[in-house]
Amino acid sequence: MRGSRVGGPGCPVPHGVLFYAGTRERVQVPFDEALRAKTLAAIEQVRALSARDAPPEPLPAELRHRCHGCSLATICLPEETLYQISGAAGGTASAPAGITRVIPQSDEGAVLYLLEPGSHVGKRSEHLIVRKDGQELNRVPLHAVRQVVVLSSVQISTQALETLG
Ligand code: SF4
Repeated sequence: MRGSRVGGPGCPVPHGVLFYAGTRERVQVPFDEALRAKTLAAIEQVRALSARDAPPEPLPAELRHRCHGCSLATICLPEETLYQISGAAGGTASAPAGITRVIPQSDEGAVLYLLEPGSHVGKRSEHLIVRKDGQELNRVPLHAVRQVVVLSSVQISTQALETLG
């Protein structure tokens, strides 16, 4: 881009910008020492979580509002899991305070997460095929997928988009 400066190694990055599409508002976020330390601690926490054999407990009741809209809710089953944990720990058999909603396990298929940067998703026959650099990374029958979550720079073919839409 003409007239702009591109950062590189050693180039200070004093802030980032959050853009809220709904209100078309930009909010500047200073990258101060406190935020850097908090970010590094969060990265460490994620690494520790991913090294565990079992998933962590669902969010506690005071943070449960974050579960609504979470794509993992029908797998995680936060209300039911906490209820079971409470029972196994000798808790009361009655519903713990804070239960707001029961999420039935879905039998409509799984969530496909697209994580690999630079990969491409196409449709062939009744399958979604994830490829990168000519290699097939994954092949998933369409009937086994109820939702696709894109978490990286992934290309999706028009045919796949039409089918998923
Ligand atoms: S439903 Fe989502 S946000 Fe809630 S505890 Fe499970 S993974 Fe976390």
